[in-house]
Amino acid sequence: MTQELDKNASPKLGGLSYLNPAAPEPWASFIEQIERVRPYLGPLERWIETLKHPKRTLIVDVPIERDDGSIAHFEGYRVQHNLSRGPGKGGIRFHPAVTLNEVMALAGWMTIKNAAVGLPFGGAKGGVRVDPATLSKGELQRMTRRFTSEIGLIIGPDRDIPAPDVGTNAQTMAVMMDTFSMNRGSTTSGVVTGKPIALGGSLGRQEATGRGVFIIAREAGRHLHIPQEGARIVVQGFGNVGGIAARLFRAAGAKVVAIADHTATLANEAGIDIPAAQAHAATTGGLAGFAGATPIDIEDFWQTPCDYLIPAALEGQITPERATRIQARVIVEGANGPTTPAADDVLHKRGILVVPDVLANAGGVTVSYFEWVQDFSSFFWTEDEINARLERIMVSAFDAIWLVAQEKQVSLRTAAFIIACHRVLEARAERGLYP
Ligand code: NAD
Repeated sequence: MTQELDKNASPKLGGLSYLNPAAPEPWASFIEQIERVRPYLGPLERWIETLKHPKRTLIVDVPIERDDGSIAHFEGYRVQHNLSRGPGKGGIRFHPAVTLNEVMALAGWMTIKNAAVGLPFGGAKGGVRVDPATLSKGELQRMTRRFTSEIGLIIGPDRDIPAPDVGTNAQTMAVMMDTFSMNRGSTTSGVVTGKPIALGGSLGRQEATGRGVFIIAREAGRHLHIPQEGARIVVQGFGNVGGIAARLFRAAGAKVVAIADHTATLANEAGIDIPAAQAHAATTGGLAGFAGATPIDIEDFWQTPCDYLIPAALEGQITPERATRIQARVIVEGANGPTTPAADDVLHKRGILVVPDVLANAGGVTVSYFEWVQDFSSFFWTEDEINARLERIMVSAFDAIWLVAQEKQVSLRTAAFIIACHRVLEARAERGLYP
């Protein structure tokens, strides 16, 4: 089974996704998730269309001079889905298959996530259709700087604050912060989060999404009586989110029995040495060739019996077909949009608990919020303070969503969307339409 992505995918708005040919395009999944909340909105239903129309969509051309003197052009996007509750917030993705459709959906999920957790942000997302691995260091920096200048029209610490996502990292954020600051003429650390500590980054930010996934999995496990000690874990995606979540599970006594990235799918019934696998991936660029586990077929990976399945790669990975074969007790969505709405229904019927992305991976944006607050006040907190506040916010968001799911007899995803849509649409209604 191939894991190759279609690098020539077009940014079409309809049809099927390039990410997984069997999955609907991400924006269609987002719209369907919004529709599922309609019956629970009461008088706020009047405003539901707001959520189906991104507020602002910027498409930019990003030309760079390559090291060999040729000129290359890349297409980039920044979508501000909704700004009713505060400035836009959401990551920047560098990936050869990024499309406008995908960025719109990711921005929409950020609106829901920020509201579900109670952060004072709207939802935004950005991306460039580029494979960063094919650029030299200099080319990557020129591309990042030109992209930042192009979207500089609409970003800023009180307007829209990017952060890392797939294919970007703290170094990307440093370059973005520098470019924005140079254009503005003053150092503006709060324009991005997920920066290096030396530039006003926050302690704990790099680990925050994986830590949040771990905290939320633990809370779900408390309700289902799954002890961490000895729990069987399967993780797809071994980057910032998947790698760190896997490491925290292992440190808590769980056994990570299968892992996958874009280079390999591996299993080891005795439990994989995660720090060793991370060291291997860091030096070689992926899991391929890691000696501490055996390669398995990707479809066998999805049906590995486990307590927790953590999709932490890309959208559309859990299709209805895979959902019929998954043998997990809980799915904790580290990635954004890994489960299609139809697959959600299959899992619900099969009694497999799905903890949705908008809750499970909200740890990253929560500590990004802390970073933004620290930058504004130029007063920095200790890592213990950050982790304690993260824990409090994640646990209380989990409890509130769990309660609504019980009361209304809906999935955790629909419960999270109910809470979030109420908050966003209430803000919209209170503000009223301009003019
Ligand atoms: P990353 O670039 O650090 O890692 C991505 C991982 O996915 C890599 O291991 C890569 O090899 C793997 N991958 C890519 N394509 C794959 C495929 N077809 N099959 C299997 N594995 C594949 O990215 P990340 O920051 O860890 O983000 C992963 C997911 O988590 C994304 O959906 C992202 O939107 C979401 N997320 C990230 C953050 C964050 O703070 N970084 C926050 C919230 C959500």
